[in-house]
Amino acid sequence: MTTTPGHIVVVGAGLGGLRTIERLRSSGYEGRITLIGAEAHPPYDRPPLSKQVLDGTWEPERAILRGRPGLAELGVAARLGTPAVGLRGTTVALDGGDSVTGDAVVLATGAAARRLPGQPDDVATLRTMDDAVALRHRFGAARSVIIVGAGFIGAEVAWAARRRGMEVTVLEALPVPCARALGPEVGALAARLFTEAGVDFRCGARIAHLKDGRTVELVDGTVLSADVVLVGIGAVPDLAWLDGAVPRAADGLACDERGRVVGVPGVWAVGDVAAWWDPDAGAHRRGEHWTSAVDQATRAACDILDAQPPPATPPYVWSDQFGLKVQVLGRTETADEALPLHGSGLGGGEAKGTVVGYFAGGALTGVVSFGAPALIMRYRAFVASGADRATVLAQAEEWQQGSSPAQPATMEAQPK
Ligand SMILES: Cc1cc2nc3c(=O)[nH]c(=O)nc-3n(C[C@H](O)[C@H](O)[C@H](O)COP(=O)(O)OP(=O)(O)OC[C@H]3O[C@@H](n4cnc5c(N)ncnc54)[C@H](O)[C@@H]3O)c2cc1C
Repeated sequence: MTTTPGHIVVVGAGLGGLRTIERLRSSGYEGRITLIGAEAHPPYDRPPLSKQVLDGTWEPERAILRGRPGLAELGVAARLGTPAVGLRGTTVALDGGDSVTGDAVVLATGAAARRLPGQPDDVATLRTMDDAVALRHRFGAARSVIIVGAGFIGAEVAWAARRRGMEVTVLEALPVPCARALGPEVGALAARLFTEAGVDFRCGARIAHLKDGRTVELVDGTVLSADVVLVGIGAVPDLAWLDGAVPRAADGLACDERGRVVGVPGVWAVGDVAAWWDPDAGAHRRGEHWTSAVDQATRAACDILDAQPPPATPPYVWSDQFGLKVQVLGRTETADEALPLHGSGLGGGEAKGTVVGYFAGGALTGVVSFGAPALIMRYRAFVASGADRATVLAQAEEWQQGSSPAQPATMEAQPK
């Protein structure tokens, strides 16, 4: 934008919406900000929901990023518990009949838990704080759980349930967990985390029917039942309320490289709802990760204010599974080769300490680690520069011999 907007409306009071506002203020923006949130809760963090909140080590309130006083300190007019129901230009229509017009609008409405066709209401999903509190409550009286989906949420819930001594069955349609992101060998290592924790892990399992909140029928005729059934198969943006006002990418709101929604002047989108243009992939891509929501919020705020954004960093995601931090730095889906850099997990040894490099055409595109948080960060600059295989393997060898990196890289602080 060439002139600073007098009033910025942020729709979605989650991580991306809050971080956008914080960045606007820390960059010196003094104009009006209105925050529209569908949930009554003030902005809260989702990663602890499937970790500390579910396992009971945190009360839910601890996941709140900024309460109402904190929002007031930021000079934000917050309308929480009031979903946006329409968008025309930069005017946002609200449930109840009001509307708010901004000079700029940021859409940060996240995504909703993906459901299976015909999914009964008493089958659990985990996306919101209310979902986490309800699941924790159900776990208090449950002895068994069936989890559909062995992605990050499925693994974290399985681990929380095992620690409570519950019988856990995990049904995964693909041959290994996170098959597209991890590939077959590293996916097999991820599968071992389930089985070594005592989970009844069934890959290639196809669901025919979720009968009710306790019974699952598989295509092969097997019928399984448990006290709780949870579906954890990813998330989808809810775009129905936009009613065609904003063009869609294949998945999410199509945005350019600065977060401007394509074809809608004055509107930006960040976080899980947004599919930003990725010049490397030559396509719009939607992420569902904490760090990408924060990065996009920063970049969109800078663009609105015509300020220089910080340099781009490689994508990063983490998950806490079975007592290990699993981390993914950079991109793995485009790789044609996955090579062990540290540890013996790929050869059948202990998962902890295993670090794997992903290469496309001999250039490093990503790194995955299991219980090796300090080690994986050393590869950040190599991922960013697409270092060649020989350089990466030689460096791994040197670090295996025990020498320290000149400058260990750090990531922006993430939730514990
Ligand atoms: C249980 C769980 C655990 C996770 N763990 C990890 C992890 O370990 N590591 C990691 O990298 N990522 C993790 N993630 C992903 C990460 O939390 C998300 O990528 C991040 O929250 C995205 O931020 P967002 O602002 O786009 O969406 P959200 O945080 O979902 O916020 C969107 C907000 O918009 C509101 N909203 C929706 N529709 C409307 C509307 N019409 N009007 C007004 N408001 C609306 C919603 O109520 C919500 O509060 C996890 C996610 C979940 C659900």
